[in-house]
Amino acid sequence: MSTITTVPSGWVDGAPSSGSGLDHTVIDPATDAPVANLVLASGSDVTSAVAHAARAQHDWGGATPAERSAVLHAFARLLDANADLLASEEVSHTGKAIRLATEFDVPGSIDNVDFFAGVARNLDGKASAEYSGEHTSSIRREPVGVVGSITPWNYPLQMAVWKVLPALAAGCSVVLKPAEITPLTTLTLARLATEAGLPDGVFNVLVGTGADVGAAIAGHPDIDIVTFTGSTAVGRMVMSQAAANGTRVQLELGGKAPFVVFDDADLDAAIQGAVAGALINAGQDCTAATRAIVAPSLYDDFVAGVADVMSSVRVGDPRDPDTDMGSLISHAHRDKVAAMVERARAAGARVVTGGVLPDGPGSFYPPTLIADVAEDSEIYRDEVFGPVLTVSTFTDDDDALRRANDTVYGLAASAWTRDVYRAQRASREIKAGCVWINDHIPIISEMPHGGVGASGFGKDMSAYSLDEYLTVKHVMSDITGVARKPWHRTVFTNPG
Ligand code: NAD
Repeated sequence: MSTITTVPSGWVDGAPSSGSGLDHTVIDPATDAPVANLVLASGSDVTSAVAHAARAQHDWGGATPAERSAVLHAFARLLDANADLLASEEVSHTGKAIRLATEFDVPGSIDNVDFFAGVARNLDGKASAEYSGEHTSSIRREPVGVVGSITPWNYPLQMAVWKVLPALAAGCSVVLKPAEITPLTTLTLARLATEAGLPDGVFNVLVGTGADVGAAIAGHPDIDIVTFTGSTAVGRMVMSQAAANGTRVQLELGGKAPFVVFDDADLDAAIQGAVAGALINAGQDCTAATRAIVAPSLYDDFVAGVADVMSSVRVGDPRDPDTDMGSLISHAHRDKVAAMVERARAAGARVVTGGVLPDGPGSFYPPTLIADVAEDSEIYRDEVFGPVLTVSTFTDDDDALRRANDTVYGLAASAWTRDVYRAQRASREIKAGCVWINDHIPIISEMPHGGVGASGFGKDMSAYSLDEYLTVKHVMSDITGVARKPWHRTVFTNPG
C-alpha cells in the first residue's frame, strides 16, 4: 500500500525548491490512489533556475574532463545504492510492472550514467593540423552552455538520464522539467546528483505543467539549447517557441514502428518478438512495435501465435514480481487508446484478442491484437501509445518496404528474415533512426537513439549525443611570427 508523501516543487541550486504554482497530487495509475503532494513550480520560477544554472555552468564547464568524470562515476554508484528506491518510485507514479523497472529502467539508467562518466574524458577534437602553411589549426569542443530539458511520463527516469548525462559530460548545466504526473524519480535523481558531489546549480529540476514551465523553458532567452522528448505536436510547439530566440533544439518525438516479417523468417521468434516489442511498458514506448506487416504465407499463423502469447500475458498489480504488464498512465490516456480500438473495430478491422475495458480501479488495458487493418485507417497511421499491435500483409519485398515507410514517423523498425541480403536491404531502405534485424526493442548506452521525419532529430545516448551539447570552435594560430608579416601577405584562402 503506498503512502502519501510531500515532495518539493523542484531541485534548484543543490536544494529542494518551493514553487509558486498550483497544488498538485501525483496519482498511482494502477490503484488511482494519491502517492505524493506538491506545489507546482510556475513559469516565473524558470528565470531564477536558469540564472543558477548559468552561474554554475562556468565552473563546471571549466572543470577538467577527469574531474567531471569522477563526479559522474560517483553519481552512478549512488544510483546503484538507491536502485530499490528508484524502482519503487518509478512504479508508483507510472503503474509499470516492477520487473520492467528493476530489469530495464533502473539498470539502464545507471549504465547510461556510467557510460557518460567514461565519455566525459574523450571530447574528441578532430583533425587539428597546419592547413595553410602559415597557421596551425586546432578544434576546441566547448559546452553549449545552459540546457533546458523537457521530458515525458513514459520512462521518467531514463528520459531524464538520457537528456542530462551527455549534457553534464559535455560541461553544460541543466534545467529540466519532467512531466508533472511523474516527477518522483527525476527529483530523486537530482538529489542524488548533489549528494554525489555535483556542484550546486549544475542540475536543476522544476516540476510544472507544459503550458507554463515547459513553455517558459522553451522560450527562455538565456537557455542555449532546448532538448525535448515527447509528442510530435508538442515538439513542434517547443521548436517554434525556441525559434523566437534562435535557440538550438533537439527533439525526440513520436513513433509508429513497423515490424516486417518476411516469408523466410523464424515464425516463432517473430511471434515472441512481436509480443515483447508491442507490450513493452504497456506499449507506451516510442519505439514499440505497432504495425506488424507480415508475409501472406505466414499471416494466419502469425496472427494465431501472437494472439495466443498475448492471452498468456499476466496483467495486473505492478508491484507483483510475476506481473508482465502494469497499467497505462491514466484513465484519460486509457480512454484514448480504447476509443481508437473501438473506431478501428467500427471501421471493419478484426479485434483478435483484447480490446475490452476491464472493470475495477486503475488504468489497465489488455494486450490487444487487431488484424486486417486498412492502410488508410487511423489505427494503422496514428500513434496509439498503448498495448495494441495491428497486423496487415504485403505482396512482395518492394511492397513490404513501401508499407514500412508509409508513415510520417521514422524512429525505429524491425525486419525479420534469415536471408542476409533481405536484411541488408531492409536496413538500408527503411527510414528510421534504428532498424533491428530479428529483434525489436533492445537498446544499449553505446549506440544512439533518435529519429527522422516526424520523430524529430538529434540523438540521445552514445557518444553521438555529446555532439548536441558541444559547440565546435576553430582556433587558427599564426606560426610565422605576426610582427614580421606585412598586411598584403595575409592568407585569405587555403592555398591548396
Ligand atoms: P507530451 O508531448 O504531451 O509531453 C512531453 C513533455 O512536454 C511533458 O513534460 C509536458 O508537460 C511538456 N509540454 C506539454 N506542453 C508543452 C508546451 N506547450 N511547451 C513545452 N512543454 C510542454 O508527451 P507525453 O504524452 O508526455 O509523452 C508521450 C509522447 O512522447 C509520445 O508521443 C511518445 O512517442 C513520445 N516519446 C518519444 C521518445 C523518443 O525518444 N522519441 C521517448 C519517449 C516518449
